[in-house]
Amino acid sequence: MDKFKDFFPVFLDLEDIRVLVVGAGQVAARKIGGLIDASAAVTVVAPKISPDVEQRAAKGEITVIRGKYQSDMLDGMSLVFAASSNKALNRRVSNEARKRCIPVNTADSPSECTFILPAVIRGEGFTAAISTGGKNPGAARALREFLEAHRAEVSVRMERGRRRPQIAARKGTVYIVGAGPGNPDLLTVRALGLLRSADAVIHDYLIPEEILSLAPNKAVRVCFAKRGRTAGHGAATKQDAIHRMMVKLAKEGKSVVRLKSGDPMMFGRGGEEAAFLSHAGIPFEIVPGITAAVGCAAAANLPLTQRGLSSSVTLAAGHEAGDKGEDALDWKALPKSGTIAIYMGIARVEAIARELSEAGFDKETAFAIVENGTRPEQRIIRGRLKDLPKIAVKTNVCSPAILFVGRTAQQMAKTIPILSMTPDCDKPKCLKAKKPFR
Ligand code: SAH
Repeated sequence: MDKFKDFFPVFLDLEDIRVLVVGAGQVAARKIGGLIDASAAVTVVAPKISPDVEQRAAKGEITVIRGKYQSDMLDGMSLVFAASSNKALNRRVSNEARKRCIPVNTADSPSECTFILPAVIRGEGFTAAISTGGKNPGAARALREFLEAHRAEVSVRMERGRRRPQIAARKGTVYIVGAGPGNPDLLTVRALGLLRSADAVIHDYLIPEEILSLAPNKAVRVCFAKRGRTAGHGAATKQDAIHRMMVKLAKEGKSVVRLKSGDPMMFGRGGEEAAFLSHAGIPFEIVPGITAAVGCAAAANLPLTQRGLSSSVTLAAGHEAGDKGEDALDWKALPKSGTIAIYMGIARVEAIARELSEAGFDKETAFAIVENGTRPEQRIIRGRLKDLPKIAVKTNVCSPAILFVGRTAQQMAKTIPILSMTPDCDKPKCLKAKKPFR
């Protein structure tokens, strides 16, 4: 039975340090690879050398001794790996190394190790080493996989750590902050710094947990606006409640981040909130964010303007069309030669297709819908205006999504492979547009 110990974690500088590896099979080959990456001076001893290890020897990366291990091979070594498939030999190597006070790692035998190798994850600017002291390598691997899956968030958090001394939310102030379209990498550095130092965060449903988790655990979190409850009288009541909450928390002396998806001044009532705060005498600041149309266009490789194709882009609110009286969007007034990016239009996509057509848009005009843009579940769906209602139903397009209309959506189809959907829309697949749209 192995006795488990608590190991002391260190990172070693192995440049030109002499290391002996006993064994030249698969297990040894993995260790040898890591040692070469660390610029160690590696000697391998084994009667039989695997092709991987042979290759390294041929390249001059390691010294190979073809034959049996001898005790004097430990002379001058600073680190030893007993990595043969012969347990008795590994034990002998381990004992002899320990007698000479040379740190030794013995394959598959933590009790015969004076050092062990952690599970490693490398990201931009960091190396994380995870160990369970040899007790449970599977658990260490699982934790490494978790970190790998959250690599982007780790980098964001590191950036936060680097910037923290410079950016800190002031007490008694409300920051109306744009969180971007959803991917935490697309937060501005200022947004991140403020979020990290906020005492309170007021947000809506579109902000993903990955972003909210960047706020301190002790920060007060208030979520307003559930999906689908944003229209009519309910919307006004909710907006009042948000205003009152911002003022209350700021007056308690808290630094408040009012976090909005995309950009706060774009279909986000940022203006109304700023006006209310100003009236209430609460200091505030607007922090811009990447608006959904810009984030989605980039995610879909869709140019918003392009020389000879589109020299304007209109950001429009799809739910402001129809019979909204003076507030109604005048489709006729929109430049047909440019790109139209329609927010909040998915619920009435059929009506929008009709209204565009009545306003004189050619039914062959290309459209692209980017659903959940910049998020892991992103989908891109495209076609021509005449087929829009049919395709929207078939693909079961859901909010949040941006509907792009114009020749630039067509351009995207011409030039790049994009993620698109099969007509019955259950599996995303990568399609290269064979026939460009006219
Ligand atoms: N202030 C936000 C817009 C809020 S209105 C901004 O600047 O982006 C909400 C609408 O934004 C949604 O109905 C949808 O049309 C769009 N939207 C927000 N996030 C989105 C995303 N990740 N992908 C596609 N559309 C998104």
